[in-house]
Amino acid sequence: MTQTDALLRLQEVDLELIRTKRAFAALPHQDKIRKIKQAAKSLTAELTKLVGARKDVQIDLDDNRATHQHMLDLVEEVSAKMRTTSDYRAIADLEAQLTHLAKRIERLDFEKAALDKNLVKLQQSEAKAHALGRKLQHEAQAQADAYKKASSDTEATLAKLTDERAQLLAQLDAHLLEKYEAASKRFDGLAVEKLVGNNPSICRVSLQPSSYADIRAQNTEITTCPYCHRMLIVVDPSYTAQNK
Ligand SMILES: [Zn+2]
Repeated sequence: MTQTDALLRLQEVDLELIRTKRAFAALPHQDKIRKIKQAAKSLTAELTKLVGARKDVQIDLDDNRATHQHMLDLVEEVSAKMRTTSDYRAIADLEAQLTHLAKRIERLDFEKAALDKNLVKLQQSEAKAHALGRKLQHEAQAQADAYKKASSDTEATLAKLTDERAQLLAQLDAHLLEKYEAASKRFDGLAVEKLVGNNPSICRVSLQPSSYADIRAQNTEITTCPYCHRMLIVVDPSYTAQNK
């Protein structure tokens, strides 16, 4: 590999290293995992409320059932008394008690229907919250797996590029390398441009005939752009042919 090829490849490798690192930093997985965790936290709070409300309804239903049974026992008691008495006023009083008990029972039935309905609603919400919780868990796992895969892929790419970079550095003359490192820092990785015809490939300022003649006179493939001061590779076929 010539010094020129090594230099151009070094720039490609360095730009690829920058791109790979930026792409990895821009991966959305970590942000998504953070959002999923936030959603899971709100869901847990919501679920705690639902479970509390459902338990309250179940307690109310137990109370309702117990009271209902108590009323039925009283009806039984009053009915038994009625069967054993023939006193007209006592019977009228017992009948009034039965009417009252019937109203209480009707009221309890009405309350029970509302509680049952509420319980079903809360149980459905609870089941939905559990399902959503499982979905969030799967989604977080999928994101974590994808991030892990992307991390190891990135690591492999960076290791490969770093190896190649070391090999390229070993091939380059010290003064070229020093010039490259300085230009790379100054121009954010875009240190080397190619002269195609009389146009440098990055700054694209057409060379004046005098500048072009100066470059030819240097009789070298690697020089400096007179405009932007990047390293300039002269790849004009006519130039190379003339100097052979
Ligand atoms: Zn230039």
